[in-house]
Amino acid sequence: MISEFDLIRRYFSRPAAHTVLGGGDDCALVQPAAGMLLAVSTDTLVSDVHFFADADPALLGWKSLAVNLSDLAAMGAQPRWATLALTVPAANESWLAAYADGLYRCAAAHDISLIGGDTTRGTLSLTLTVIGEVPYDSALRRDGARTGDAVWVSGTLGDAAFALAALQGRVEMDEADRAMLETRLHAPTPRVSLGLALRGLAHGAIDVSDGLAADLGHVLAHSHCGAVIDYALLPLSPVVRELTQHPIFDSCVLAGGDDYELCFTAPVEAEAEILAIGARLDVRLTAIGRIVAGSGLQWLDSAGRLMAATMTGYDHFAG
Ligand code: ADP
Ligand code: MG
Repeated sequence: MISEFDLIRRYFSRPAAHTVLGGGDDCALVQPAAGMLLAVSTDTLVSDVHFFADADPALLGWKSLAVNLSDLAAMGAQPRWATLALTVPAANESWLAAYADGLYRCAAAHDISLIGGDTTRGTLSLTLTVIGEVPYDSALRRDGARTGDAVWVSGTLGDAAFALAALQGRVEMDEADRAMLETRLHAPTPRVSLGLALRGLAHGAIDVSDGLAADLGHVLAHSHCGAVIDYALLPLSPVVRELTQHPIFDSCVLAGGDDYELCFTAPVEAEAEILAIGARLDVRLTAIGRIVAGSGLQWLDSAGRLMAATMTGYDHFAG
């Protein structure tokens, strides 16, 4: 069986950029550029909680980094460095090779370097810590939303949650539709370029990982304001648009996990500039409502009437 050190050398020791000293010593050494803050975030994916134990390891490699990059994106940070705390039940080399390939593919796509980590045996669990750089005064924080701002969301909502529901047999759809949604579930695209483009423009921002209702709710709570959202404006993929009458529609679109889109607020006058950014980056950007004085989320139906529904997001410890 391969030793721990051979495993690290063989699979997790590719060259690192922007790094004084990479993996192999007690610590990696890195230097942020002058005037930059470090943005630091950690996320864990646990087998049987966040993914099925037999999930494709290459996709897991991509996703385990992508979900962390999504947090850097939501902060407007430029990804730089990552560490991996890897817990595996056994040193299965074909699994490790595929996992490492997926991880390094996502890293290369977003210009981030793996500079260290830890390797232990146990229940399969993947913890990435990512570090990015953001100018001292332009991080996109949750507490920056202001009354009168427009509320925007990138991409489409509910795709990943509907993919999971399809895998669990809770919704029927044809193969092509299901494949499209599964790509969104297994290989999310972190909105890194969008986060960078929104520096100095967006007031408040968050990534949508636990559902729009919960995540926008965090922005509102941190910013001490409320929001009125037009239910009919929520951006949907063509597949999900066909499912608006399905009983789980609201739970998938408003409270489903794993979208990894950005929700942000910006002055109403910035609309043209924001739409131009979306066009340049080829990312759909949709204004869905307004920040208002007060607290909490209110939903308007297509006739502009207040809706009764209140949706909350996914919580590992609730219920
Ligand atoms: P230590 O005992 O000092 O914690 P380790 O034996 O855990 O050192 O790790 C040795 C080196 O290999 C360190 O530089 C560490 O960052 C790196 N490393 C360990 N596991 C991983 C991993 N899964 N991915 C990338 N680098 C790793
Ligand atoms: Mg260690």
